[in-house]
Amino acid sequence: MFTIKGKTTDWEVVIGLETHIEVLSNSKIFSGASADYNPTVAPNTQACMVDVAMPGMLPVLNKHCVEQAIKFGLGINAKISNHSKFARKQYFYPDLPQGYQISQPAEDPPVVGRGWIEIMGDDGNPKKIFIERAHMEQDAAKNKHDMHPSKSFVDFNRTGVMLLEIVTFLDIKNPENNSYITSPDEAERYLREIREIARALGVSKANMEEGSMRADVNVSVRPVGSKEFRTRTETKNMVSFKFIKTAIEYEARRQVEIYENGGTVSQDTMRYNQGDGTTSVQRSKENALDYRYFPDPDLLELEISDEEIERIRKTMPELPAATRARYINEFGLTEYDAARLTETTDISKWFDTAVGGKKERAKAVANWLISELFAHPENMDITNKITENADPDAPRIITPANLAELVDMIAGNEINGKQAKEIFIKILDGERGTIHEIADKYGMKQITDTGAIESAVDEVIANNPAQVEQYKSGKVGLLGFFVGNVMKATGGKANPSVVNEIIRKKLA
Ligand code: ADP
Ligand code: MG
Repeated sequence: MFTIKGKTTDWEVVIGLETHIEVLSNSKIFSGASADYNPTVAPNTQACMVDVAMPGMLPVLNKHCVEQAIKFGLGINAKISNHSKFARKQYFYPDLPQGYQISQPAEDPPVVGRGWIEIMGDDGNPKKIFIERAHMEQDAAKNKHDMHPSKSFVDFNRTGVMLLEIVTFLDIKNPENNSYITSPDEAERYLREIREIARALGVSKANMEEGSMRADVNVSVRPVGSKEFRTRTETKNMVSFKFIKTAIEYEARRQVEIYENGGTVSQDTMRYNQGDGTTSVQRSKENALDYRYFPDPDLLELEISDEEIERIRKTMPELPAATRARYINEFGLTEYDAARLTETTDISKWFDTAVGGKKERAKAVANWLISELFAHPENMDITNKITENADPDAPRIITPANLAELVDMIAGNEINGKQAKEIFIKILDGERGTIHEIADKYGMKQITDTGAIESAVDEVIANNPAQVEQYKSGKVGLLGFFVGNVMKATGGKANPSVVNEIIRKKLA
């Protein structure tokens, strides 16, 4: 549990996240202009009359965008609303040509209603995080302040690209329901899970560095054990897991200090200062009234039939939660291992490829992947980065096929664990070929021939009469000493469990 020590009491943190993901679609949510606004596209070439709000232009809802929202909603176990509305959220800013953002009002259920996802809690157990809603809205343009010493520019390419805003839920009326985020690490795990669900569904690239995923971070603190929620602050537009964690921790400590000094926290909108990892007050929080929300008269209510929802449900791929359940139930993996292996869809695909449907391989593959390969992600065949940087003559990559072969050879007593590690290191050093080929080349075949092992054991026993004496009089801890010497005598090639067995028998 994440707590902050105070002078008289410990404090816990309550976190609410509003996550925006940029939805993948060829055209924008209410216009036919291309939704491709990436920085290589020339500014203001992907915005049409609707996007820049020329008088008389009318929005037309993009069906594909609605389907994306439904897919995501199903992916977070949410109730999809059969009826939802669009409203205008009004404010003035140069990046908002309409003078309002078309969004979905919070009071009516937006297209995606109450849902939940599961993350690994700080105690290592699965934890449900409740989601209040996810609604469709328009993204704004991009202001450019760095192109000219005295002028600012606006690039409208991003205007009107669809965003899905996903808001976590705090059950104010039912404080015993603790399905919300309570630590910086849980916030990161929640965001990563949202990212992987969005990616698995093809709903968004959900890439923070690229800006296709951003989060507003609401933080409050309260004495450990207290059931009421205190005033929160909101730090907007965060675009890195690391900054989010730093901001939460800083903000929580700031609030604790205020309370400990007898003050009160005011409901402000904060700014995160990247340079020193601090937060500072940007403005006092606006409320819904300030935005003068009203139903958009240019758009009809959105009607979605149950048949439509079911049709979309049938197209859903396996999502990380289902993958985890499969690993636990079918492969017998632990919750922890299952969580690690589903951190990204790339990893779970890699793992599934290595397992190749052979359940008996799964545990060993998981162990190797988590304890050995995760230490060298740059050498795993998971991202294309490896091939970009690698010397073309020396692919230092471990593929799923490599690991499958290795695990099978260990299981078949062809090589032992120590030799397997050496083979890995050879591959990472640029060695090529199948695991069998490398093992042959370096004479790493394991000795399972009991005759050869027996004679090595006999020799070790003959050379160490004192230890034999001690072992026989009860110092059984010496077993390791004998095993070690036999392994040394066989150049590390003996099968350790066979060695163990023979020594025990001979010294009995
Ligand atoms: P708004 O839209 O005005 O920012 P919402 O009520 O929609 O406010 O809440 C935004 C987010 O803040 C939600 O994720 C919610 O759970 C969270 N939140 C609300 N109250 C608190 C609180 N006391 N502490 C932490 N988070 C909170
Ligand atoms: Mg908000």
